[in-house]
Amino acid sequence: MQSLIMNSSKEVVQSAAKEFLQFVNRGASPYHVVDECRRRLLEAGFIELKETEQWDIKPASKYFVTRNFSSLIAFAVGGRYLPGNGFSMIGAHTDSPCLRVKTRSKRTKQGCLQVGVECYGGGIWNTWFDRDLTVAGRVMVKSEGKLVSRLVHISRPVLRIPHLAIHLQRDINDSFGPNKENHLVPIIATAVQEELETGSASSGDACCAANTAEKHHPVLVKLLCSELGVEPEALLDFELCLADTQPAALGGVYEEFIYSPRLDNLHSCYCALQGLVQSCSGESLPEDTNVRMITFYDNEEVGSESAQGAQSNLTELILSRLASSSSNLTAFQQAAPLSFMISADMAHAVHPNYQEKHEENHRPSFHKGPVIKFNCNQRYATTAVTASVVREIASRVSVPLQDVMVRNDSPCGTTIGPILAARLGIPVVDIGGPQLSMHSIREMCCTSSVLQSITLFKGFFELFPTLRKTLIVD
Ligand code: ZN
Repeated sequence: MQSLIMNSSKEVVQSAAKEFLQFVNRGASPYHVVDECRRRLLEAGFIELKETEQWDIKPASKYFVTRNFSSLIAFAVGGRYLPGNGFSMIGAHTDSPCLRVKTRSKRTKQGCLQVGVECYGGGIWNTWFDRDLTVAGRVMVKSEGKLVSRLVHISRPVLRIPHLAIHLQRDINDSFGPNKENHLVPIIATAVQEELETGSASSGDACCAANTAEKHHPVLVKLLCSELGVEPEALLDFELCLADTQPAALGGVYEEFIYSPRLDNLHSCYCALQGLVQSCSGESLPEDTNVRMITFYDNEEVGSESAQGAQSNLTELILSRLASSSSNLTAFQQAAPLSFMISADMAHAVHPNYQEKHEENHRPSFHKGPVIKFNCNQRYATTAVTASVVREIASRVSVPLQDVMVRNDSPCGTTIGPILAARLGIPVVDIGGPQLSMHSIREMCCTSSVLQSITLFKGFFELFPTLRKTLIVD
């Protein structure tokens, strides 16, 4: 089987990758990821639903719902769907490791105004030093008696965590282990400049501040307020992620790489979204007996245990609504074993400088296709059955696949796959594009993996219901 990169022209591969750059640049926080997905779904004719409302779901129609505005489930109902039929699902996560502004962030040291931050997830924190940082996230604002969630994304660099010069730590190239409380505190301004600009320096202790505006340096509050067009008194609370301002880019002498923040896991979100949207633009949806669905969760990087995480009841509630039927009270139970989920999360490509870190027969590399992840200790949910299904689909749409499992003496990551398999009783395959530098502020993958993943995911939505009829497991 030829690899897709050779089947498709370089222009087609590059244009899919470039479109992804737009997506990842906008997705600076889980809220912005959901916002960008929502925008694209509305553009593609999907109808927005609310969990709080009763739904009137029609065949051959497309819908989506969000929770906490950081998780999203979108689905297209097959024209021949009946309650009790299966769900063809692709899951991914909207969050990435990052630093987040503390609840009381105001700090001043040596004339520097600093912003206290909290570590979210397992980032490679030393990569956050000497980057041109900004903030993006959600701000709760009081407006005309209402408490309203607003998104904010400052586009210019306003924060920096400077390295300590090598002259003051000669061993930095041997071992650099910043203390996460003391050494990761970004600088937003100097007291001197603040006084020049405003006539008074930031003062007061954040620990005893009574309102939100006083818990942070006025310069940060002003920045947010001017972006949102509100007064400081209107700020109730916020969740702000720090983010690199350097946009994602194509790289390498042949422009075959993507250098980007948040590849884990916006690459998977983007490809699943495109796979769903593209599968609905053809002729196949009116004939489909299943519901096609993408499920994007927040909080994977911290264990998925939240109201909007993969461990929540969100998926089950949505699936059971769609499967509910007055004439068939066990429709949902019947649907579970007929369903299938691709749990899409990035995989580790073999690193040329650390090749021994990969098991000798399982060394995925760039351009050779999405990677099926195996772990018999159930850190991944893949089984022989689910792998076979995805191999068959991949071969029909001419997408190459790779396999990975970790060495017995190496720790193994995990993802939403095993959680959803256990909670829903649905067969799951864990799969992801190969990348390097996972959890760095700037990661790296190959351009071809965007088109390969989209093609595989689109093929899954179009082919799975028919393929399922040929699957004999018990
Ligand atoms: Zn991930």
